[in-house]
Amino acid sequence: MTDYAMFWGCTIPARFPFMEKSIRLVVDKMGVGLHDIEGATCCPTKSIIKVGDEFTWYVTAARNLCLAENMGMDLLTPCNGCYSSLKAAAAELHINHRLQRDVNEVLANAGLKYTGNLQIKHLVEVLYDDLGTDEVKKHITRPLDGIKIAVHYGCHMIRPSSAIHFDDPNHPTKFDLLVEALGANSMDYPTKMLCCGSDLNNADNPSDAVTLSREKILEVQELADAMTMMCPACFAQFDSKQYLMQKSGERVHLPIVYFTELMGLAFGFEAAELGMDMHRVETDSFLETWYERSKHLESAREHFDLTALRSCYECAACIDDCPVTKIIPQFEPNRIIGDVLHGKLDQIVESPDIWYCINCYTCYELCPQKFGMVKVFDRLKTLSCERETAPEGFKGGLQMFMDTGKLGEPTAMRKKLKLPKPPKSGADDLRELMKVIKKRKKSGLKSGSGSSSTKPDKVSEDELRENEVREDEILEDELHEDETRKDKLREVDANKEKQEAGE
Ligand code: SF4
Ligand code: SF4
Ligand code: SF4
Repeated sequence: MTDYAMFWGCTIPARFPFMEKSIRLVVDKMGVGLHDIEGATCCPTKSIIKVGDEFTWYVTAARNLCLAENMGMDLLTPCNGCYSSLKAAAAELHINHRLQRDVNEVLANAGLKYTGNLQIKHLVEVLYDDLGTDEVKKHITRPLDGIKIAVHYGCHMIRPSSAIHFDDPNHPTKFDLLVEALGANSMDYPTKMLCCGSDLNNADNPSDAVTLSREKILEVQELADAMTMMCPACFAQFDSKQYLMQKSGERVHLPIVYFTELMGLAFGFEAAELGMDMHRVETDSFLETWYERSKHLESAREHFDLTALRSCYECAACIDDCPVTKIIPQFEPNRIIGDVLHGKLDQIVESPDIWYCINCYTCYELCPQKFGMVKVFDRLKTLSCERETAPEGFKGGLQMFMDTGKLGEPTAMRKKLKLPKPPKSGADDLRELMKVIKKRKKSGLKSGSGSSSTKPDKVSEDELRENEVREDEILEDELHEDETRKDKLREVDANKEKQEAGE
């Protein structure tokens, strides 16, 4: 378990306890230990305290850092503002030894000494850099497939880059990749790097405080299902301020979802458990869209191993090698797999496109995981047969086989070529077997569906035991036959020896 000294800051405990709840739920599931820092105060925020009294700002920041140092852990914060303040103060104290000495002189009065012997981490940093997207994916039970999310980084998660060093300050990607790890699409949008405008609250005109947020909300509501962020101040701008805009009659509606709430949903927690009903802007429309899509995904999960399917979709390494894609542009294997993951199974099963897979197994042979897209298409085609939406030509062939056990009868042309009479047809015997298969199906007995399945059929314990007993019997029979064969050989050898001796 990775343990951190948890610096909650002022805003989350005071205004948004549901954020604390979702953070605790998801990091606990990922095996991260959070240890509250007793006696912590405001970070302190740069935009007020640093401007008002810079030395007090350093002393307060250093005091908070000392408390975490004394716990022997790195400090973790889920707030951009706290992250930026604490990192900026630590960066200056690290290079300015005179400042550090003065700060420590003051801290000595409280029995503290700042050494700078700890790391300050943002929760996104811990999730992306320390734990990694693969670890996040392991806990997903209800992926956000097909959901369009606009990521708002928030200035202080990436800037000033001289102190932060988390991601590219102008073109960051790590938060987007975390959102995509949950299965959602992280949207690109022109105002992505625009500040939320929270500091405009320090200026005197309250209406100015929403100008930047409004610009972003108006743009994003047209292209995403929701916006996410990892900063309580940004959240307040987009959620609480948006609510005020709605109240004053502005036609805006963009659900705002804190990132650990998105993770919580994907990890299987319920919206109510995460406290999502405590937002000012309703999130029901977003949740309904998601539930609707997950319902479709449920049916996809019955037929596919969605984790394997998602890896194939994200890999896309062999799609250009598929011979059909080169000549039939509407055959887009990766798009078809994506559609299944995005809740469109019914549509795909009925689509003629799945029949363009020609079973050449090129993808299987090239696949490093030996997965092969062919497996997906085989299953889709089987579903299409079950739903009677297969192409007529295919249906005709299948019907002919079911009726006659064959796909063609020898013709008189063989005689012309003086070929021998064709061997006796086993069609009648096969037809009898087919009756048995039909009976088994009717009584609900499972037949091994072989390697074409992307999800192994579940076999009951009784079936397993029955199989074991049957295998033992077969083995015994084989051994018995073997012994009889050996006895016979011995007999033949003995007779031969006798004959030779007689001569
Ligand atoms: S986007 Fe706004 S609230 Fe968020 S970190 Fe930047 S200034 Fe602060
Ligand atoms: S098996 Fe199907 S999907 Fe795979 S390469 Fe061949 S045609 Fe393409
Ligand atoms: S079949 Fe294999 S190589 Fe091809 S896209 Fe899927 S996982 Fe990648």
